[in-house]
Amino acid sequence: MDDVVTLLGPPGSGKGTQAERLRDGLGFSWLSTGELLREARGAGSELGRRAGEYMDRGDLVPDAVIDGIVREAIASRDGEPILLDGFPRTVTQAEDLDAALQERGRALRHAILIDVPDDVVAERVSHRGRADDSPETVTARLGVYHRQTEPLIAHFEARGLLLRIDGAQDPDGVAEAIRDALRR
Ligand code: AMP
Repeated sequence: MDDVVTLLGPPGSGKGTQAERLRDGLGFSWLSTGELLREARGAGSELGRRAGEYMDRGDLVPDAVIDGIVREAIASRDGEPILLDGFPRTVTQAEDLDAALQERGRALRHAILIDVPDDVVAERVSHRGRADDSPETVTARLGVYHRQTEPLIAHFEARGLLLRIDGAQDPDGVAEAIRDALRR
Protein backbone atom coordinates (compact mmCIF):
# COMPACT_ATOMS: atom_id res chain seq x y z
CA MET A 1 0.00 0.00 0.00
CA ASP A 2 1.34 3.38 -1.02
CA ASP A 3 -1.38 5.60 0.43
CA VAL A 4 -0.92 9.13 1.66
CA VAL A 5 -3.75 10.49 3.79
CA THR A 6 -4.10 13.57 5.96
CA LEU A 7 -6.13 14.18 9.09
CA LEU A 8 -7.86 17.54 9.20
CA GLY A 9 -9.75 19.08 12.11
CA PRO A 10 -9.68 21.74 14.83
CA PRO A 11 -7.38 21.52 17.86
CA GLY A 12 -8.88 18.95 20.23
CA SER A 13 -10.74 17.10 17.48
CA GLY A 14 -8.84 13.93 18.35
CA LYS A 15 -6.40 13.94 15.42
CA GLY A 16 -3.55 12.70 17.61
CA THR A 17 -5.61 9.88 19.13
CA GLN A 18 -6.89 8.75 15.76
CA ALA A 19 -3.44 9.05 14.19
CA GLU A 20 -2.10 6.65 16.81
CA ARG A 21 -4.83 4.13 16.04
CA LEU A 22 -4.33 4.36 12.28
CA ARG A 23 -0.61 3.90 12.71
CA ASP A 24 -0.96 0.87 14.97
CA GLY A 25 -3.99 -0.63 13.21
CA LEU A 26 -3.31 0.07 9.54
CA GLY A 27 0.47 0.40 9.55
CA PHE A 28 0.75 4.03 8.49
CA SER A 29 3.97 5.91 9.03
CA TRP A 30 2.91 8.89 11.19
CA LEU A 31 4.07 12.35 10.26
CA SER A 32 2.99 15.11 12.65
CA THR A 33 4.38 18.58 12.00
CA GLY A 34 3.42 19.61 15.56
CA GLU A 35 5.47 16.70 16.92
CA LEU A 36 8.45 17.50 14.67
CA LEU A 37 8.30 21.11 15.85
CA ARG A 38 8.09 20.07 19.52
CA GLU A 39 11.12 17.81 18.98
CA ALA A 40 13.04 20.69 17.40
CA ARG A 41 12.18 22.84 20.40
CA GLY A 42 13.25 20.12 22.81
CA ALA A 43 16.56 19.79 20.97
CA GLY A 44 17.08 23.53 21.35
CA SER A 45 17.77 24.12 17.64
CA GLU A 46 17.47 27.55 16.05
CA LEU A 47 14.48 26.33 14.03
CA GLY A 48 12.85 25.05 17.22
CA ARG A 49 13.41 28.33 19.02
CA ARG A 50 11.91 30.38 16.18
CA ALA A 51 8.96 28.02 15.71
CA GLY A 52 8.30 28.07 19.47
CA GLU A 53 7.48 31.77 19.40
CA TYR A 54 4.64 31.12 16.96
CA MET A 55 3.47 28.02 18.80
CA ASP A 56 3.23 29.79 22.16
CA ARG A 57 1.04 32.46 20.60
CA GLY A 58 -1.19 29.83 18.98
CA ASP A 59 -0.13 31.06 15.53
CA LEU A 60 0.90 28.95 12.59
CA VAL A 61 4.60 28.55 11.95
CA PRO A 62 5.42 30.09 8.52
CA ASP A 63 4.64 27.89 5.52
CA ALA A 64 8.24 27.94 4.25
CA VAL A 65 9.55 26.49 7.54
CA ILE A 66 6.94 23.75 7.45
CA ASP A 67 7.66 22.98 3.79
CA GLY A 68 11.32 22.41 4.64
CA ILE A 69 10.69 19.89 7.41
CA VAL A 70 7.89 18.09 5.56
CA ARG A 71 9.83 17.69 2.32
CA GLU A 72 12.63 15.94 4.17
CA ALA A 73 10.23 13.74 6.12
CA ILE A 74 8.37 12.68 2.97
CA ALA A 75 11.56 11.95 1.06
CA SER A 76 12.61 9.54 3.81
CA ARG A 77 9.34 7.59 3.61
CA ASP A 78 9.41 6.30 0.02
CA GLY A 79 7.18 3.25 -0.35
CA GLU A 80 5.62 3.65 3.11
CA PRO A 81 1.97 4.59 3.59
CA ILE A 82 2.00 8.03 5.23
CA LEU A 83 -0.46 9.52 7.67
CA LEU A 84 -0.15 13.30 7.87
CA ASP A 85 -1.33 14.76 11.19
CA GLY A 86 -1.74 18.53 11.45
CA PHE A 87 -0.46 19.18 7.94
CA PRO A 88 -1.37 20.82 5.60
CA ARG A 89 -2.91 23.66 7.60
CA THR A 90 -3.08 26.27 4.81
CA VAL A 91 -3.87 26.14 1.11
CA THR A 92 -0.22 27.06 0.39
CA GLN A 93 0.89 24.05 2.44
CA ALA A 94 -1.50 21.84 0.48
CA GLU A 95 0.14 23.01 -2.75
CA ASP A 96 3.61 22.49 -1.27
CA LEU A 97 2.51 18.99 -0.25
CA ASP A 98 1.37 18.18 -3.79
CA ALA A 99 4.78 19.28 -5.09
CA ALA A 100 6.69 17.32 -2.43
CA LEU A 101 4.69 14.15 -3.14
CA GLN A 102 4.95 14.55 -6.90
CA GLU A 103 8.74 14.67 -6.56
CA ARG A 104 8.53 11.17 -5.07
CA GLY A 105 5.99 9.95 -7.64
CA ARG A 106 3.15 10.02 -5.13
CA ALA A 107 -0.11 11.87 -4.48
CA LEU A 108 -2.49 12.57 -1.63
CA ARG A 109 -5.24 9.96 -1.58
CA HIS A 110 -7.68 11.25 1.07
CA ALA A 111 -8.20 14.15 3.47
CA ILE A 112 -10.08 12.91 6.53
CA LEU A 113 -11.98 15.73 8.24
CA ILE A 114 -12.73 15.07 11.92
CA ASP A 115 -15.63 17.43 12.33
CA VAL A 116 -16.14 18.80 15.87
CA PRO A 117 -18.07 21.89 17.00
CA ASP A 118 -16.16 24.68 18.81
CA ASP A 119 -17.82 24.15 22.22
CA VAL A 120 -16.75 20.49 22.28
CA VAL A 121 -13.20 21.51 21.31
CA ALA A 122 -12.89 24.01 24.18
CA GLU A 123 -14.17 21.45 26.69
CA ARG A 124 -11.80 18.70 25.51
CA VAL A 125 -8.67 20.78 25.23
CA SER A 126 -9.10 22.16 28.74
CA HIS A 127 -8.41 18.61 30.04
CA ARG A 128 -5.30 17.96 27.95
CA GLY A 129 -2.69 19.93 29.89
CA ARG A 130 -0.21 20.66 27.08
CA ALA A 131 1.97 23.79 27.28
CA ASP A 132 0.15 25.48 24.38
CA ASP A 133 -3.31 24.56 25.74
CA SER A 134 -3.98 27.60 27.95
CA PRO A 135 -7.52 28.97 27.38
CA GLU A 136 -6.10 32.02 25.57
CA THR A 137 -3.95 29.92 23.26
CA VAL A 138 -6.80 27.53 22.52
CA THR A 139 -9.05 30.42 21.55
CA ALA A 140 -6.29 31.80 19.33
CA ARG A 141 -5.72 28.39 17.73
CA LEU A 142 -9.42 27.95 17.03
CA GLY A 143 -9.51 31.36 15.33
CA VAL A 144 -6.48 30.41 13.25
CA TYR A 145 -8.15 27.13 12.34
CA HIS A 146 -11.29 28.85 11.10
CA ARG A 147 -9.40 31.50 9.15
CA GLN A 148 -6.45 29.61 7.71
CA THR A 149 -7.19 25.90 7.80
CA GLU A 150 -10.93 25.62 7.17
CA PRO A 151 -10.57 26.83 3.54
CA LEU A 152 -8.85 23.48 2.97
CA ILE A 153 -12.18 21.71 3.40
CA ALA A 154 -13.51 23.26 0.18
CA HIS A 155 -10.09 22.79 -1.43
CA PHE A 156 -10.11 19.03 -0.79
CA GLU A 157 -13.81 18.67 -1.48
CA ALA A 158 -13.34 20.21 -4.94
CA ARG A 159 -10.66 17.58 -5.63
CA GLY A 160 -12.88 14.74 -4.49
CA LEU A 161 -10.47 13.86 -1.66
CA LEU A 162 -12.56 14.79 1.39
CA LEU A 163 -13.91 12.17 3.81
CA ARG A 164 -16.05 13.82 6.48
CA ILE A 165 -16.23 12.06 9.87
CA ASP A 166 -18.44 12.99 12.83
CA GLY A 167 -15.84 13.75 15.50
CA ALA A 168 -18.28 14.37 18.36
CA GLN A 169 -18.69 10.62 18.99
CA ASP A 170 -16.34 8.67 21.29
CA PRO A 171 -12.83 7.77 20.02
CA ASP A 172 -13.81 4.16 19.16
CA GLY A 173 -16.73 5.41 17.07
CA VAL A 174 -14.51 7.90 15.25
CA ALA A 175 -11.86 5.24 14.59
CA GLU A 176 -14.46 2.87 13.17
CA ALA A 177 -15.96 5.59 10.97
CA ILE A 178 -12.49 6.38 9.59
CA ARG A 179 -11.73 2.73 8.85
CA ASP A 180 -15.09 2.37 7.09
CA ALA A 181 -14.55 5.50 5.04
CA LEU A 182 -11.06 4.38 3.97
CA ARG A 183 -12.40 0.99 2.95
CA ARG A 184 -15.11 2.41 0.70
P1 AMP B 1 -0.34 20.38 16.72
O1 AMP B 1 0.43 19.44 17.58
O2 AMP B 1 -0.59 19.85 15.35
O3 AMP B 1 -1.59 20.88 17.38
O4 AMP B 1 0.59 21.67 16.50
C1 AMP B 1 1.01 22.48 17.58
C2 AMP B 1 1.47 23.85 17.07
O5 AMP B 1 2.55 23.67 16.15
C3 AMP B 1 0.41 24.60 16.27
O6 AMP B 1 -0.44 25.37 17.10
C4 AMP B 1 1.28 25.48 15.37
O7 AMP B 1 1.81 26.59 16.07
C5 AMP B 1 2.45 24.56 15.05
N1 AMP B 1 2.17 23.75 13.81
C6 AMP B 1 1.99 22.41 13.74
N2 AMP B 1 1.76 22.02 12.48
C7 AMP B 1 1.78 23.14 11.72
C8 AMP B 1 1.59 23.41 10.34
N3 AMP B 1 1.31 22.43 9.46
N4 AMP B 1 1.71 24.70 9.93
C9 AMP B 1 1.98 25.71 10.78
N5 AMP B 1 2.16 25.53 12.10
C10 AMP B 1 2.07 24.26 12.58
